[in-house]
Amino acid sequence: MSTYPKNIYIDYPQEKVDGSNEYRCQFCKLLTSEINGKIGNHALNCQYRRQHTYFEIED
Ligand SMILES: [Zn+2]
Repeated sequence: MSTYPKNIYIDYPQEKVDGSNEYRCQFCKLLTSEINGKIGNHALNCQYRRQHTYFEIED
């Protein structure tokens, strides 16, 4: 049994942004503050997003 919240995705690989205190997704380079734990906030072609939304992709 898992108590991990279904709608929060924060286990994607992150990297520090040069010259900033912010972190971003290693795949799509969007800031974690913009992603905000939501899979849909990753770029459409983000590898992490695609791995977690295979059930939504029709084509
Ligand atoms: Zn991403």
